[in-house]
Amino acid sequence: MARIYHDSEADLGVLKSRRVGSIGFGNQGRAQSHNLRDSGVPIRIGNIDDEYRERAIEDGFDVVSIPEIAEQSDVLLMLIPDEVQPEVYERDVAPHLKPGDALCFASGYNIFYRCITPPEEVDTILVAPRMIGRAVRSLYEQQEGYPCLVGFENDASGDALRIALAIARGIGATRLGAFHSSFREEALIDLFAEQMLWAGINRLALTYFEKLVEHGCDPEIVATELHLSGEFLEIARAMITEGFFNQLRLHSHTSQYGQLSRGDRMVPPALQEEIAQIMGEIESGAFAKEWAQEQADELPTLRKLWEQAVDHPLSHAEARLEALRQVVAKAHLGD
Ligand code: NDP
Repeated sequence: MARIYHDSEADLGVLKSRRVGSIGFGNQGRAQSHNLRDSGVPIRIGNIDDEYRERAIEDGFDVVSIPEIAEQSDVLLMLIPDEVQPEVYERDVAPHLKPGDALCFASGYNIFYRCITPPEEVDTILVAPRMIGRAVRSLYEQQEGYPCLVGFENDASGDALRIALAIARGIGATRLGAFHSSFREEALIDLFAEQMLWAGINRLALTYFEKLVEHGCDPEIVATELHLSGEFLEIARAMITEGFFNQLRLHSHTSQYGQLSRGDRMVPPALQEEIAQIMGEIESGAFAKEWAQEQADELPTLRKLWEQAVDHPLSHAEARLEALRQVVAKAHLGD
């Protein structure tokens, strides 16, 4: 059973003598900064001179440049996209780090894959909400918590975990309970979800579309059944409200039997091998290396994959069903 920390085990006092700064004021940066400030933790923002900086000033924060916030903070939240963190770290952060500082990440990627290697005299901590920034803020305002992972890689001060827990409390996560985790675990669950779970669900959905169209079914009707009716949203909702398996009871007996009796055939041994290989590439760093090269080459493969996606018959069917999409979105999401 995972170790779960609650408010009572997280002492904001450990931040009293430390100056806290956020690099970035985007999805997570804005939400976490507001929550920390409302929890009584003074926080300043480091950002380049653009609209995010203006937004932080409008929200009443003191904003300085990134090198300045790095120099003037003892606890530094790295809340800019993972892809740009290594460059910003080397150029603007590393030269200003001093013994006893703490660097806090909301993702395991750059530390687990050694894209960033902070010095040994610095605490390297993880506070990773499992929630989008907008909800990090709105749940805090509603006095609710949300899932979050906390951990540390390097505990130079002896206070690394206490600092992580204080931040988790300040952003409202320990109200519900923060799981003790690690940079490795965060990176693995995140990347494996993207590359196996969501990639697999997306690809199977496309196969469903392609196979039925191949068998003479109308693309618009298949696209409607696939996602435009909003049924999958109801299934996802029911997985949360009723439970992963229990939601099956909301379906007909024919559906229950079909789903439960055919599920294992969807992951035959050959596919299990592929899944193991994907996990191997994630764990060994082979994927991280491939992705770093793709970025260095200015994303040629990603661009090509996007072109294929936009040109897929499902995208064309979806475009022809724009009016229906709007009605369903309104019915299910209130948009
Ligand atoms: P955003 O894309 O919202 O970050 C935007 C911020 O990054 C802005 O302040 C922007 O400022 C700054 N920024 C972007 N590019 C650069 C650059 N080249 N140099 C300096 N600053 C830059 O990031 P997220 O909030 O989505 O992600 C932040 C961290 O949180 C990541 O580690 C992510 O993995 C993690 N995380 C994100 C979640 C989410 O819901 N999005 C959920 C949980 C964790 P400007 O444009 O002014 O440069």
